[in-house]
Amino acid sequence: NWEDIKGNIAFKNVSFSYKRGEKVLDNFNLEVKEGETIALVGETGSGKSTIVNLLCRFYEPTEGVILIDGVDYKERSLVWLQSNLGYVLQSPHLFSGTVKDNIRYGKLTATDEEIIRASKLVNAHNFIVRLSKGYDTEVGEGGNRLSTGEKQLISFARALIANPKIFVLDEATSSIDTETEKVIQHAVERVLKGRTSFIIAHRLSTIRSAGRILVIKKGKVIEQGNHKEL
Ligand code: ATP
Ligand code: MG
Repeated sequence: NWEDIKGNIAFKNVSFSYKRGEKVLDNFNLEVKEGETIALVGETGSGKSTIVNLLCRFYEPTEGVILIDGVDYKERSLVWLQSNLGYVLQSPHLFSGTVKDNIRYGKLTATDEEIIRASKLVNAHNFIVRLSKGYDTEVGEGGNRLSTGEKQLISFARALIANPKIFVLDEATSSIDTETEKVIQHAVERVLKGRTSFIIAHRLSTIRSAGRILVIKKGKVIEQGNHKEL
């Protein structure tokens, strides 16, 4: 399903402020080629999540444009973006329902086998089968019976099952244990091939495979390079 998208992304003179707030991004520019993995690092509040939230179009630029394959993404439908972009958010959102329902949300026609395959790919399978009813376990309102790390893994499987060309991972800042972080790290390396990816992680080891690491400060890129250079 990657025929109608290459996955080239450009932020052109993008400025953004949340309602009534000051500018979080001020004339931000970034070009990402198809298949490239970009890592965003930087102190808390620097604007990393804002950059990926704009890409996911949860918000739109106040000024400037975001281009996908050279076209302003506002000219595309939300459905088009949803079918080509998968994301794992910093505060992942689950629906009440089972683990399986939550993963299948990424592709409603997915079979149980596909769901298990995606879960294995992102290293979620092991923890899921240890839950009281495995894939049929109810996650609770908003997923409140699971840890943040577990919710991230389920969103990861959900994102992957749709096989998106563009992939965004905004790793949870708090309450994510070292074990989950390792699990995510390995999954990330496995699933990025062929996709254009934006990864926000808290340890350099998680993003060692990124082609380019951008250090963000106050909404600007203040340094960039690969893992060796930084
Ligand atoms: P962290 O590492 O803690 O996740 P971050 O780099 O992702 O930080 P952002 O979440 O992008 O930072 O926040 C950038 C700025 O925008 C901060 O000053 C933050 O307080 C503000 N901000 C973020 N989300 C909102 C929102 N929904 N409404 C208003 N202000 C916001
Ligand atoms: Mg953030």
